[in-house]
Amino acid sequence: MYNKTMYELGSHRSVIRDLFEFGKKRAAEVGADKVYDFSLGNPNVPAPDGVKEAAEKLFALPDNTVVHGYTSAQGDADVRKAVADSINARFSAGVTPDLIYMTCGAAASLTVTLNALCEKGDEFILLAPFFPEYSVFVKAAGGTPVVVPFDEKTFAPDLTALEKAVTPHTKGIIVNSPNNPSGAVYSRKTLEKIADILSAAGEKFGTHIVLIADEPYRELVYDDIEVPYLMNIYPDTVVCYSWSKSLSMPGERIGYIALSPALNEKEAVYAAVCGAGRALGYVCAPALFQRIAAACVNELPDIEAYRRNRDLIYSSLTEMGYDCVHPDGAFYLFVRSLEPDANAFSDRAKNYGLLIVPGDTFGAPGYVRISYCVSYEMIKRSLPAFRALIDSYKK
Ligand code: PLP
Repeated sequence: MYNKTMYELGSHRSVIRDLFEFGKKRAAEVGADKVYDFSLGNPNVPAPDGVKEAAEKLFALPDNTVVHGYTSAQGDADVRKAVADSINARFSAGVTPDLIYMTCGAAASLTVTLNALCEKGDEFILLAPFFPEYSVFVKAAGGTPVVVPFDEKTFAPDLTALEKAVTPHTKGIIVNSPNNPSGAVYSRKTLEKIADILSAAGEKFGTHIVLIADEPYRELVYDDIEVPYLMNIYPDTVVCYSWSKSLSMPGERIGYIALSPALNEKEAVYAAVCGAGRALGYVCAPALFQRIAAACVNELPDIEAYRRNRDLIYSSLTEMGYDCVHPDGAFYLFVRSLEPDANAFSDRAKNYGLLIVPGDTFGAPGYVRISYCVSYEMIKRSLPAFRALIDSYKK
């Protein structure tokens, strides 16, 4: 009657969504001011004015059938040119519009890319800690996820483990930096080492391992930290991007796939990307937001608001005695659980009104994730609860 795998996926909410729903229920019971919801990565910084201005201009056009009509399946030609021009101006990557495919956000960029690449028996490497939907997406594309652990000091991938994990069946690897959930930004040296491992394995096995760069947090970095453009480091790169976080419009579902000009068999891979988009029924990315994104392609987020939040939560929790990873990017703080089982720790935190996500779901047991894309005032109000939580372990 129905597909059991899909039933399982649909009938069990993710841990993150569970916490979010719990928070809403709890707020109705005890009052919203006593619940500190750090569960979701939903930006609290408003979209830049440019988004509204572009929307108003588009709505003022005399013939709006163009704005609301279908675009080419791969995206409007002018939009793809604007995206390619912006990538080239910033990273000198030599991308052409025929290597750009517009999508419904980074999630769609990933599912389309994975479906375009995956054949029976293929493996995709996930670097822990990772966005939990990666394993859902890889499995749904027919692939097998292979998890590589991280170095607990730097939060960079364990490169010795990566070398061992690469096999003749490895089709791709997903690299997410700035990282959700750790906030770590991988250094150029680390990325170059990853590229060397992939190139050496490709030569040894006679394959081309595709590096899928999942980059929704590219623009969310602090303190002049470098986020190297992976196409310039490794030829077989596919960038999966979205404006969900950088322009604070996750609900609008808009992003793109960019293939490296040096990608092996790039024309055929692009055709497979178009085929995967077609098979998955995407038709085209939202037409209005393709054009808004193109108009705002060089806008940057209000990083100062996130920096203020980061500085407050990081310094306050560290001072209380929590062991936190210093976040150089994204808007997440990854904290060592105060007991071995992070699920039990997250459950105890709920008693103090704190909604924090256990790391198991990110392939990092023993940690919790705090999303600080919330109001500064809420972080301030939550601090006594964090203190009471750590004190409860001292009794
Ligand atoms: N990749 C990572 C690492 C994410 O954190 C998210 C969303 O939180 C996504 C992909 C999906 O992004 P989008 O909402 O643009 O589909």
